[in-house]
Amino acid sequence: MVYRMHANALVVGSGLAGLTAALTIADAGQEVILLTSGEDLNDGNSALAQGGIVFRSPDDSPQLLERDILTCGWRHNSVRAVKYLARRGPQVVQELLIDRLNLPFDRKEDGQFHLGKEGGHSVARILHMADRTGRAIMEGLMAAVKAHPGIKVLTRRTAVDLLTSHHHATLLEFKYQLLNQCLGAYVLNEVSGQVETILADFTVLATGGCGRLFLHTSNTRSSIGSALAMASRAFAKVMNVEYVQFHPTTLFHRAERRLLVTEALRGEGARLVNASGEPFMQRYDPRADLAPRDIVTRAILAEMLKTDEDCVYLDVANYVKDLETHFPTVYKGCLQLGIDITKQPIPVVPAAHYFCGGVLTDNAGRTTLERLYAAGECACTGIHGANRLASTSLLECLLWGHSVGLDIGKRTKGRTVIGRRLLDSIPDWVSPGSNRNEDPALIAQDWATIRNTMWNYVGINRSSSRLKRAFEDLRELNKHIHDFYRETPLSKAIVDLFHGCQASYTITIAAMQNRRSLGCHYRVD
Ligand SMILES: Cc1cc2nc3c(=O)[nH]c(=O)nc-3n(C[C@H](O)[C@H](O)[C@H](O)COP(=O)(O)OP(=O)(O)OC[C@H]3O[C@@H](n4cnc5c(N)ncnc54)[C@H](O)[C@@H]3O)c2cc1C
Repeated sequence: MVYRMHANALVVGSGLAGLTAALTIADAGQEVILLTSGEDLNDGNSALAQGGIVFRSPDDSPQLLERDILTCGWRHNSVRAVKYLARRGPQVVQELLIDRLNLPFDRKEDGQFHLGKEGGHSVARILHMADRTGRAIMEGLMAAVKAHPGIKVLTRRTAVDLLTSHHHATLLEFKYQLLNQCLGAYVLNEVSGQVETILADFTVLATGGCGRLFLHTSNTRSSIGSALAMASRAFAKVMNVEYVQFHPTTLFHRAERRLLVTEALRGEGARLVNASGEPFMQRYDPRADLAPRDIVTRAILAEMLKTDEDCVYLDVANYVKDLETHFPTVYKGCLQLGIDITKQPIPVVPAAHYFCGGVLTDNAGRTTLERLYAAGECACTGIHGANRLASTSLLECLLWGHSVGLDIGKRTKGRTVIGRRLLDSIPDWVSPGSNRNEDPALIAQDWATIRNTMWNYVGINRSSSRLKRAFEDLRELNKHIHDFYRETPLSKAIVDLFHGCQASYTITIAAMQNRRSLGCHYRVD
């Protein structure tokens, strides 16, 4: 068994951001190790994306897209990053998805792209393949990655900790250097149970979002804020982590992951109605059903309180045609649960959906820790500010995945590799000797505490007293889990719990410190 490996680049996470980064680095002739904690490459949120990816329409301009992103983000965005995305993003869509992968985005009869419009966009500019855009993009990219000889894919591998020269090097001379460098990661092989040492000249975090920290979410199981936890422990700067976006419309039912009812339906004319069938959004915002997500989310909560109902409804049957062909994911998903959306309104509630903050990066995806990059939902590029504009996240994943890849390709060609002496001074993982066994009941209870605490106290409406309570509870839990982690042989369940608890605690502290309501950080006091 090999427990120690080395590559030019280690990419942690195989969603749209990770795959794009891996492919671009490998195209530059560098060896890449690509990890996913899942059994296959598409276990993250990317494959779930329904609405589509921002492109450009004939009546569009980079300035108009910039304005929409800044308005939605409450001008808390990085203008530099927004300008970069608005100018360069659609070009990368053209080069990679349209020209290289030849993806069959929907077109009209005249051969032009059929572009969708979602909340907060002033023009229709969203490319899509019915409502299965994420899955189709992932299938194209996965085929390219699997066929690339420069990429070694490792599945069922969970990154545990980043390796840094200051913390892990055993030779004193490297601890005395002012510059702390990331040298790869310790990774749990779920099949063998071993922790592997994967050394790399450059490491890319692309582990996705954190929706699973909340009781109700549209996100997959892997979205537990791993990158936030690992980067914080390695002292890379994280930013805007209090800004968690709640999607206004997920299906109201009992499943663990809530089916997303895409905003594109409202773009096509669907309307939110209360239990009496009355459209209500006009009472909350002049943009009505197409107001930005944070506003629609709070309006739904207010309406639920007012009417004393557990959900509101999305009336698509009376407003949108050809539901079976244009929205097959929502149509089939609802039908399986006995709701025929061509005839009945869809019961919907908000759920945790998107992480606007994360590990701070520049436009090349570099972080404040030397040799560490971040891309996709785990990164804070500054694009989203205090609230994300719909369908900009796939574009951000693609653009930053690509930019990270180009930057690493350039740097490895410039021979900025890590010296052998430093690499050799990184020890392999030492397993704690104790035989203390993990207890599934304790782990389940800890997760229930985290997800309820985050939903009730660090959720859509926040207050000082709720946040203080969350802070105290999570601080205590964090301490218990930290002790447990140090004394118990590692398993995926323990690593996930450790990451999840730390990520929740970090988000709570940021929310507590920020007393100003803005975008999706909303304080009621
Ligand atoms: C239901 C739904 C619909 C959406 N619709 C849209 C849309 O229409 N348009 C849009 O722009 N955005 C949409 N989004 C958001 C968008 O899909 C995500 O922001 C984006 O796909 C995130 O991609 P990613 O590459 O950053 O992460 P992901 O695709 O989530 O991938 C994360 C990867 O990291 C791995 N991972 C996590 N932790 C570890 C670890 N510790 N070690 C190893 N591997 C790890 C996972 O296994 C996975 O491979 C939607 C999101 C959801 C949930």
